[in-house]
Amino acid sequence: MAKLMTREISEEIVRDVDSFLFDCDGVLWDGNGPIKGSLETVLRLKELGKQVFYVTNNSSQTRDDYVKKCATYGFPAQKDEILCTAYIAAEYLRTANFKDKVYVIGKKEAMGAELENAGIRYTGTGPDPLEGNTYADWLSNIKLDPEVKCVLVGFDPHISYMKLIRAASYLKKPDCVYLATNEDSSLPVKNSDICIPGTGCIVKPVSLASGREPIVMGKPAPNMFEVLRKVHNLEPSRCMMIGDRKDTDIMFAKNCGMRSMLVFSGISSIDDIQQISDTEELEESQPDYYAENLAGLGIFI
Ligand code: PLP
Ligand code: CA
Repeated sequence: MAKLMTREISEEIVRDVDSFLFDCDGVLWDGNGPIKGSLETVLRLKELGKQVFYVTNNSSQTRDDYVKKCATYGFPAQKDEILCTAYIAAEYLRTANFKDKVYVIGKKEAMGAELENAGIRYTGTGPDPLEGNTYADWLSNIKLDPEVKCVLVGFDPHISYMKLIRAASYLKKPDCVYLATNEDSSLPVKNSDICIPGTGCIVKPVSLASGREPIVMGKPAPNMFEVLRKVHNLEPSRCMMIGDRKDTDIMFAKNCGMRSMLVFSGISSIDDIQQISDTEELEESQPDYYAENLAGLGIFI
């Protein structure tokens, strides 16, 4: 059962954990800037000689964007301490020695930029060049690029029916690789009636139309941890993931064999913490520890 963070637990964590992996939006900052206690906690962990990593499912920014954002808020971050899904997707294709073209549903400035950095050719970003309303438009005007051998779906404010047609059509070929940056259902919004759908809402229709399931780059899949592990030689039992979502961050920790802590400064609330252990299935989705925000760890260390 999940335990509220206490002085005793924090002492054990400081003793037994060397590397702290932080989800970004909803844990370190939100739309208003750094979240209460987050900067102090990260700086204190660095002072204690701990490794700190920034692990985000956001595919709309590059690693360079995150280095700048961290610097603006005062979080110490080197490029190789940042894992974001646009980078991970490019890295996945680069290490697979992918030489063909990628059809990208996503932002040029982020997913396009990371693919370019990895030397991978792509098409598809920005608004679709065609506007079509009829079968005749779709069947006669859409031309598929024969070089495309991968569809990569991420966050794209220009998502359209035309783009869905193209993605599903490429995926009809069984040798076309299908990648998704992440499957978050929604983006965090505080104090508003507006719901902002996440990348999962773009991935789902592509999967449904093509009858295929993507290889997911981001949390909860273990890819990001594997990349980090290669560079930094991490031992999962000495790592802790801190996040604001159970289905991505906490499941990521569990899939990689790390400890986990849920904070309530983003998507989740105390209602997501199971007070009694009624079923095994529910128990599996519970974090090891929880606190209102990062200050809940920071005050003790
Ligand atoms: N996807 C998009 C497009 C986002 O803008 C965000 C947060 O800003 C996320 C996902 C979630 O990011 P994180 O994993 O840092 O919470
Ligand atoms: Ca988050």
